[in-house]
Amino acid sequence: MTLTQALAARFGRAGGALAVGGVPVERLAARVGATPFFAYDRGLLADRLAAVRHALPAGVHLSYAVKANPMPALLHHLSALVDGFDVASGLELRAALDTPVRPEKVSFAGPGKTVAEIRQAVASGVTVELESELELTRVRAAAAEIGVAARVAVRVNPDFAVRGSGMRLGGGPQQFGVDSERVPDLLRLMAGEDLEFQGFHIFAGSQNLRAEEICEAQRRTVDLVVALAEHAPSPVRYVNVGGGFGIPYTARDTALDLAPIGENLAKLTDVVAAALPGARIAVELGRYLVGEAGVYVTRVLDRKESRGKVFLVVDGGLHHQLAASGNFGQTIRRNYPLAVANRIDETAAGKVSVVGCLCTPLDLLGDDVDLPAADVGDLIVLFQAGAYGLTASPTAFLSHPAPVEVLV
Ligand SMILES: *Cc1c(COP(=O)(O)O)cnc(C)c1O
Repeated sequence: MTLTQALAARFGRAGGALAVGGVPVERLAARVGATPFFAYDRGLLADRLAAVRHALPAGVHLSYAVKANPMPALLHHLSALVDGFDVASGLELRAALDTPVRPEKVSFAGPGKTVAEIRQAVASGVTVELESELELTRVRAAAAEIGVAARVAVRVNPDFAVRGSGMRLGGGPQQFGVDSERVPDLLRLMAGEDLEFQGFHIFAGSQNLRAEEICEAQRRTVDLVVALAEHAPSPVRYVNVGGGFGIPYTARDTALDLAPIGENLAKLTDVVAAALPGARIAVELGRYLVGEAGVYVTRVLDRKESRGKVFLVVDGGLHHQLAASGNFGQTIRRNYPLAVANRIDETAAGKVSVVGCLCTPLDLLGDDVDLPAADVGDLIVLFQAGAYGLTASPTAFLSHPAPVEVLV
């Protein structure tokens, strides 16, 4: 089975068409009122959360990284399924607090938090993940002004890198976190302060499909945190080992196996229980929780032949789903899984290239893809669009209307 077939099977089909949340796409397009649009399947989101919970040991705190997909209805749906949210801006913070998640279950990470964002975080009672010494000064000032004790944790830039990550965010010189060798001094500055110190956060990489690399990073993270904890101003309450669990985007990718990661975390839970009594391990996932539950649905506007090559021109493009064009962090462009959604049971009739409606050759969504015969009016669906889709795309580029997002 190809990746596309496996994904289509997961969403399900109705009357020869792909279904999202049980609704055939053509009907869904009518319900939405326009194409293109993003649709997220709430059943698949719940299934994914259940699978992660099943694989991870009980007691591991599971947090959702909101930047992967901050759609309010999706956040609300997830708020009942995860233990907390990690936010990376003042707007994400407000979106998280609009759900039933309690502020003490929210953490705010990210370099370059503004003074206003830090005040928002302190006033809300969420945990500020300190990314620098200056942020501690700013948190103190905000807490004094507002008259509360701020909750803080330290984001650590480890002295190791994670192999196998699509994007590296830790190890070597980094704009993220405080270099591990400087953390003891930062912790000393907190002693005797009216601060609620929570623990440590190490997020070293994203889009990793190799369980063994993730396990190794988690082991090294726990070792590092246990060493740093000696300098902590008060007992460590949490050890956020990050996440970085990847999903398959191309035919060459193999889905991540969660079982070894769960076993590893079970062992690390014992290590943490022995070395840091009262602390718990937290895992923070974005892409893995939501990426596979979303599709981007476009309609064919034109079918052109140019010197022997067939192009399907759709009404969407890289301005909504940049990653599918290969321009969001990929080094080599490879096709993301896509299908003719209203002909999901038909067999391939030849190679076509699917292009978006923008005036740039970068707007290539599928290069020489084997698809069933498709023409004007058919629906092309791009899979793996639930994470880093709309909000990671240059929506203003070429001034087309923003697409609708629905949770089905
Ligand atoms: C982006 C981010 C995440 C989520 O990464 P995924 O690869 O989507 O799981 C988690 N933690 C932090 C601090 C992040 O910046």
